[in-house]
Amino acid sequence: MDGKYWNRKIETMPRQDIKNYQLQKLKEQVNYCYEKSNFYRKKFDAINLKPKDIQTIEDLQKIPFTVKSDLKDNYPLGMVTASPSEIVEVHASSGTTGNPIIGAYTQNDIEIWQELMARSIYTTGGRPQDVIHIAYGYGLFTGGFGFHYGAQKIGAKIVPASSGMTQRQIKLMKDLEVTMLACTPSFAVYLSEAMTQEGVDPKKDLKLKRGMFGAEPWSSKIRERIEQEMGIETFDIYGLTELCGPGVSIECEEHTGLHVWEDHFIVETIDPDTGEVLAEGKEGELVFTALTKTGIPMLRYRTRDISKIDINPCRCGRTHARMTHITGRTDDMLIIRGVNVFPSQIEYAVMDFSELSAQYLIVVDRPGALDTFTVKVEMTEKAAQNSQLDRKTLKSDIQKRIHIITGISADVEIVQYGELPRTEGKAKRVLDLRKGKM
Ligand code: ADP
Ligand code: ZN
Repeated sequence: MDGKYWNRKIETMPRQDIKNYQLQKLKEQVNYCYEKSNFYRKKFDAINLKPKDIQTIEDLQKIPFTVKSDLKDNYPLGMVTASPSEIVEVHASSGTTGNPIIGAYTQNDIEIWQELMARSIYTTGGRPQDVIHIAYGYGLFTGGFGFHYGAQKIGAKIVPASSGMTQRQIKLMKDLEVTMLACTPSFAVYLSEAMTQEGVDPKKDLKLKRGMFGAEPWSSKIRERIEQEMGIETFDIYGLTELCGPGVSIECEEHTGLHVWEDHFIVETIDPDTGEVLAEGKEGELVFTALTKTGIPMLRYRTRDISKIDINPCRCGRTHARMTHITGRTDDMLIIRGVNVFPSQIEYAVMDFSELSAQYLIVVDRPGALDTFTVKVEMTEKAAQNSQLDRKTLKSDIQKRIHIITGISADVEIVQYGELPRTEGKAKRVLDLRKGKM
């Protein structure tokens, strides 16, 4: 700990030093993979690639991608490279898109994860005197434990709330004078709503100052709502089970993107269709190489997450590259009547209307030859009581907004407040009823 940095030397390292350090670690990691991992040796041998062929950072591009199906095909522990006795902990992805993906950690992996989470929480202002309420699920999901390990290393007071029992969580946040909240953005929205119902004003009744939200995309509009309703500063945090869990990148106090911890990860962006590596600053799919992971090493892992990278210096003094907020994942993308639509675009459109609650559901179906596309939204309790409000105009305004943003027209259905499902973890925003009808 040194002023605002958890590790000043590493966080503010000149870029050339980061590059040199990365190259050294990359060579070590490639050797480790080639010697110890059947999976990677096969991949290398298939194209006659040898560890000695990796002499520069650019040589990384010679290595084939690792993809989600590699992990699924090798379920559960086929890609473990350390010896079985070295694995000390196992987690699994939340399975948003099919079978779970297993993360198997050596003691080394756990220590690095703990360090990166401590660094990340510290970057958002978390200090030993903070009371951190962790409402990410504890268990196989990496969210709860990831924050727990990091907060513990900082020496903050931890409230390991996990998910569930929302009313009790609100009571604890108040009684224990919680100062920082960690959960999914959709749970933060739900919490804020539940606080209003419980008669708790987070701005007056709580000591809450900051929130660290991630594990799913959240639009700037949702963010504004959370910040306004709770009166807090929010930080986006990113990660995935395949790399460690949360702690791969974190937003700093400048809020101009998320610093990727480049002493442990090399990040590239590629064209998701062709796999071509894109120039820095171009939007594409993020690909990560973990430089220090020993349980299940990851070379050039295709995340399916869409973002872009900025290597310019940040005003905070940190030199590690920044990624923009994830706008969506390629496997979340809907193709409706031939047009690509991301749920985050719908979120962006509907959050413009203060008459609407922050809940929405996209329903896509194909009863005949054509796709139907319905967006269900809820009015806030206050708006529902307003007899002056013209629902017809509201509906058509929402339709127009969705059309401007996505280029296609949607049916908008305004449902009763409270009718749409609330979630404690990652939200499910899409109901695609076309499956099996294609
Ligand atoms: P899954 O959601 O695939 O079951 P994980 O639980 O490991 O798997 O979650 C990792 C995924 O969550 C990432 O690949 C990304 O799609 C999403 N994610 C994580 N953090 C963020 C964030 N801050 N913003 C947007 N998406 C995120
Ligand atoms: Zn910064």
